[in-house]
Amino acid sequence: MYDAIIVGAGPAGLTSALYLRRANKKVLVLEAKSYGGQIINANNVENYPGIESISGFDFATNLYNQVKKLGAEIKFETVIKVESDRTVTTNKGKYKAKAVIIATGATNRKLNIEKENDFIGKGISYCATCDGNFYKQKVVAVNGGGNTALEDAIYLSNIASKVYLIHRRDEFRADNKYLDEIKDKNNVELILNSNIVSLNGKDKLESITIKDNNDNRKDLEIDGLFVAIGQTPNNEIFRNVVDLTDKGYIITTDDVHTKSDYIYAAGDARVKSLRQLTTAVSDGSIAATLAIKEIKNKTY
Ligand code: NAP
Repeated sequence: MYDAIIVGAGPAGLTSALYLRRANKKVLVLEAKSYGGQIINANNVENYPGIESISGFDFATNLYNQVKKLGAEIKFETVIKVESDRTVTTNKGKYKAKAVIIATGATNRKLNIEKENDFIGKGISYCATCDGNFYKQKVVAVNGGGNTALEDAIYLSNIASKVYLIHRRDEFRADNKYLDEIKDKNNVELILNSNIVSLNGKDKLESITIKDNNDNRKDLEIDGLFVAIGQTPNNEIFRNVVDLTDKGYIITTDDVHTKSDYIYAAGDARVKSLRQLTTAVSDGSIAATLAIKEIKNKTY
């Protein structure tokens, strides 16, 4: 019997583990892929209080090592089911805990266009810092208008010969800091009010067709497309123990409580007004602290 099982080893989940271990609780972290969550793809994090600048990879690795050193058990297994008695089933086994913290974050949203899946790794990527180096002196496009898209375009402008930044509106939601930086890049071309409508190529991506608000279509020959159009949550499997919004985010009552006793939700997976590193680690610490308090007087 664990005191807590944490589903997800991103910043929220690992912070929960940190707080639980510091309270000497027996903790199991279950992660389907690799530690770090989305922040691992951030080139530079410059809005985390107290740290002027750090790569997302270094931040996540520091946190992971910190939690391991404190004695948290971390297993790379895929959670299939969580029951209200806090039995957690994975692809490899069954575990039981007094509390469960769901911190599954969100995954990259897809364009949902024909051939998208076929071209992943063959011209389509969702992570510029992971795959950017394959496009040295080549022509690439980035799709999206948020911080990720602009950060990716800036990063790629230093590797590729040309970067198209395609956004569906004429206003960006990214921070001004990135907008100012983009303006100074003479190999970045902005294409606004446009959507990608088709992905063309035989065995790999060779060009994309974009359509503007006036229905004008244009083909762009590119070697790579970086999709940076936000994220969607991964909570369907928890539907038996939590309420979900129509977009799939976990509804929490106050702070990080779900509708099930001793089951908490932390980080990007839940409904919240701001999804950032700071708010993810905040959720993680609150969930752990509440769990420690609430499981204390329960008999098992
Ligand atoms: P985001 O802020 O949700 O932006 C997604 C962008 O994709 C928006 O511009 C959106 O357009 C566009 N989009 C959504 N669905 C689309 C579709 N189907 N087709 C075309 N375009 C679509 O996502 P994000 O940029 O990944 O950022 C996620 C969070 O991480 C944000 O809170 C962000 O601030 C944070 N972040 C921080 C840093 C940093 O501080 N270094 C770096 C990266 C990300 P509309 O604008 O029209 O909705």
